[in-house]
Amino acid sequence: MTAHTWRNWSGTVTAHPARIVAPRDEGEVADLVRSAGAHGQRVRVAGAGHSFTPAAATEGTLLQLDLLDGLEHIGQPAPDGSRLVRVGAGIRLRDLTQQLAARDLAMENMGDIDAQSLAGAISTGTHGTGARLGGLATQVHALRLVTAEGQIRDISPERDADLFELARLGLGTAGVLTAITLRCVPAFTLTATEAPLPLDHVLESLGELLAADHFEFYWFPRTEVALTKTNTRDGSCPALPAARRILEDEVLSNGLFEVTNRLATAVPALTPQLNRFAARALSARTYTATSPEVFVSPRRVRFTEMEYAIAADAVVPALREIQQWLHHSQENVPFPIEVRFAAADQVWLSTAYARPTAYVAVHQYHRLSHARYFRAVEAIMRDYDGRPHWGKLHRRRADDLASAYPRWADAHRVRTAVDPGSVFANSYTERVFSPATGRG
Ligand SMILES: Cc1cc2nc3c(=O)[nH]c(=O)nc-3n(C[C@H](O)[C@H](O)[C@H](O)COP(=O)(O)OP(=O)(O)OC[C@H]3O[C@@H](n4cnc5c(N)ncnc54)[C@H](O)[C@@H]3O)c2cc1C
Repeated sequence: MTAHTWRNWSGTVTAHPARIVAPRDEGEVADLVRSAGAHGQRVRVAGAGHSFTPAAATEGTLLQLDLLDGLEHIGQPAPDGSRLVRVGAGIRLRDLTQQLAARDLAMENMGDIDAQSLAGAISTGTHGTGARLGGLATQVHALRLVTAEGQIRDISPERDADLFELARLGLGTAGVLTAITLRCVPAFTLTATEAPLPLDHVLESLGELLAADHFEFYWFPRTEVALTKTNTRDGSCPALPAARRILEDEVLSNGLFEVTNRLATAVPALTPQLNRFAARALSARTYTATSPEVFVSPRRVRFTEMEYAIAADAVVPALREIQQWLHHSQENVPFPIEVRFAAADQVWLSTAYARPTAYVAVHQYHRLSHARYFRAVEAIMRDYDGRPHWGKLHRRRADDLASAYPRWADAHRVRTAVDPGSVFANSYTERVFSPATGRG
């Protein structure tokens, strides 16, 4: 064991890298990669450690790119007002959205937190919700990366398109991303409408609900209630009074939620009542705020998570099967199931590749076992040709993932060409990308 210990946010991964280094610039990244390669050592980059999987773990050199977080360039506005913005790849989403807002710009779509690094978020296929919108990797216009040979390369769809595809969503196996050019849109506000509704009603009305810019819902296991969130662009409702926001987002969604989870852990028989209470504790509300304020919520209660992408039109039968399993197993699950949507995209290893997608995310409180629950849901999701989120827990391997991705062989070809010595591999990338007969 080395002196260094690295842990991820959820506590599901601990690693002991030989060294942890925070390079100050791209030149240092290239030197570190060359020297690690020369000593037969592997290299991984850790972003904010918010993956539940060991995506960033290594026993070799662990790079942290927190110092590569500057705003490097803003392009001229396109006719639709969008602009290309180049930033250091280590920038946290929170800092990025603040820098963009100061220039009247925004990310087109976001997930539900902003603690991640931009490079980490795109590398695992992080997404938000919106049936007409893709995940974060679809917002990437160009990249700069350091290859296994220590070369610094600028890549884009026009310049080395294949490498660009692997680099923009490939768990860091193409190289170390040092700068990312994003297509950003003019800053916008959202009107958020949040309301508890009967689950049956939500499942029957999905067609209409998905017409909204961003729709998602949280369904509390073994209840008939779904907490819906519908966000519409360019709204003009009043902002939430600060006191109400603190009461609902901090006290009820986090403080009280921690209490209900502890109670459910101590007295499992109470969980269905606690879930009904949790689903109704947040009353309906409508407010307008800037897009990052609406997309992002504080997440202070620790949990583990698995998320599967399935075809959007399979989501109702898939949820019904999960409902049946929960009913029969009486599993103790005090955390809601989150359901989101995305447009089909063309990113080779994207979970939404070539199909309109529904994301079904199951969570478990960190003090409760997730094993049986996640295994059961995973079995259901496999029957629906589900693709697991690269940053969230799952048990799939390369051999049974390959057929889920039409461009799998291309990704494999590019990976082995750009990193023949597997400098950027770790046990997780070997499990999910390398066929059992050999390393990729
Ligand atoms: C509370 C919570 C909420 C979440 N919400 C969402 C959500 O709404 N939607 C969603 O899709 N996901 C969500 N996630 C998952 C999360 O977005 C992803 O796991 C994301 O990868 C985490 O980013 P990170 O910066 O922590 O990256 P890490 O977990 O540190 O790293 C992820 C991967 O990126 C690689 N990497 C990082 N930086 C670089 C670089 N510079 N060059 C090359 N490779 C690099 C790492 O090696 C690793 O393989 C959530 C996770 C948590 C814990």
